[in-house]
Amino acid sequence: MQLPSPLQQVTYNNISFDMKRDDMIDPFVSGNKWRKLKHILIAANRQNKNHIVTFGGAYSNHLLATAAACAKFGLKCTAFVRGEFVQNEMLMLCKLYGMELIFVDRESYKDKTALFNGNFGNDQTAFFVNEGGANTEALLGCAEIVEELPQVYDNIICAAGTGTTAAGILGAITKHQLPTRLHVISVLKGDFMYNGIKNLHQQTDQLTVHSNYHFGGYAKADDKLFTFLKDFTAKTGILLDPVYTAKAMYGFLDLMANNTLNSESKNIFIHTGGLFGIFGMKDKIQRLL
Ligand SMILES: *Cc1c(COP(=O)(O)O)cnc(C)c1O
Repeated sequence: MQLPSPLQQVTYNNISFDMKRDDMIDPFVSGNKWRKLKHILIAANRQNKNHIVTFGGAYSNHLLATAAACAKFGLKCTAFVRGEFVQNEMLMLCKLYGMELIFVDRESYKDKTALFNGNFGNDQTAFFVNEGGANTEALLGCAEIVEELPQVYDNIICAAGTGTTAAGILGAITKHQLPTRLHVISVLKGDFMYNGIKNLHQQTDQLTVHSNYHFGGYAKADDKLFTFLKDFTAKTGILLDPVYTAKAMYGFLDLMANNTLNSESKNIFIHTGGLFGIFGMKDKIQRLL
């Protein structure tokens, strides 16, 4: 794995900024999913648990990252997949890495503790890892994103789903008393992200959440987003995914365009990886190419 992840200067439509390329940590144990898993796997190891049990949707970046990481470190892993049986590129890779998949209907999927206890309650080696890697240990690894930066930035920009990554970054900003502001682009529709992050890290005076770049909600997107994704990728050589990083990048550029963010400030965008998420929308994207 490539750590610390590379730092790159990016110029797009005459605007320059830095990018932390967490997408380059590993092709499959990618981005913030590795940041989250690192200390989860350390905790599992400390408790002598060598069977990781986790949860995700059929196109979950977390499942693929977990499958690949477990294979690398010689751990057994099982995933509960939300919804009826399907086959796709992501799950195929998960299986190649040796992950066992258990499909569960949407109702049963909601109670993850019950699924874990019902199926692995007697397995002394089983270790529960929440959907998206949202265990408390995840915050430690996400803080390391900031600790790897060679200079102090005015603004850090990242995408948020559960807000765990954002809370970890904010934790590092607080801990090291940095003057940095964290700008979080929520990829979900709704106004709950700020409080969600606050639940994970109390001190939020250096946090700004932007809730109007969700493009219809989680895993929703429109042609405007796909067109932007294509343009950005073709002009910079840096691939984005439509679920997280394209929305965050679109938001970041828009915030600079409307002067909410100063493009002359020291700004760094965190590329949180997860590029295989693009296959979840391949039909819609292909229409535009
Ligand atoms: C999972 C994921 C996120 C969201 O991270 P949270 O910690 O859940 O907010 C952002 N970007 C990518 C690429 C992801 O895969």
